[in-house]
Amino acid sequence: MNLILLGAPGAGKGTQATKISDRYGLVHISTGDIFRANIKNGTKIGMLAKSYIDKGELVPDEVTCDIVKDRLTWDDCKKGYLLDGFPRNLFQAAELDKFAKIDAVVNINIDFKLLMDRLCGRRVCKDCGESYHVSTLNGATTCSRCGGELYQRRDDNPETVKSRLEVYNEQTAPLINYYTMQGNILNFTGSEAPAEVLFAQVAESLDKLAR
Ligand code: ADP
Ligand code: ZN
Repeated sequence: MNLILLGAPGAGKGTQATKISDRYGLVHISTGDIFRANIKNGTKIGMLAKSYIDKGELVPDEVTCDIVKDRLTWDDCKKGYLLDGFPRNLFQAAELDKFAKIDAVVNINIDFKLLMDRLCGRRVCKDCGESYHVSTLNGATTCSRCGGELYQRRDDNPETVKSRLEVYNEQTAPLINYYTMQGNILNFTGSEAPAEVLFAQVAESLDKLAR
């Protein structure tokens, strides 16, 4: 099963992505994670990506599409994959159609009012990638799942979040219509409820598809 996970920054894509790929044995491919790994390792792609990510803008399509196209040729993708954060605009979606066969798009809709606070208060485990919110950490600085150190992403600040949300509205949201036309979109509503609540709904739909 090959899936796309669609949703605004802060909609909870990362958390759902982990759960979905665990349940269905899919490779989790996050373009954001790939860029952050490149930045950490000081690669050329990382240096280029950083200048865009810090401003909350999209990394150029050509670079991004090449990375995904290459990643999908790896052997592990034969068991199925979940694309998280790609495609992010209509150009990328059209490119993807040329080199991939997508079975379903999981779209998480969420009230925009929740996102600024969610993203600016987000802390991420540097080892396992689990996300937390400062309001529920009670001062903890390590991951309750793996003990890893928590950090704040550089782009989780009010100014960058504002432009990320604008980019989502202008460039990514049109994908909802694009995949609705293709007839393979599954829509869900994210909320302040625990991630398990949303995941139960997602799994119910995907179980039918996986059979
Ligand atoms: P979020 O969904 O919370 O914004 P991501 O980790 O998916 O976080 O993305 C972080 C940043 O990485 C984006 O703001 C963008 O700059 C860059 N990025 C990720 N995926 C793409 C993509 N498909 N195309 C262009 N830029 C991307
Ligand atoms: Zn962790």
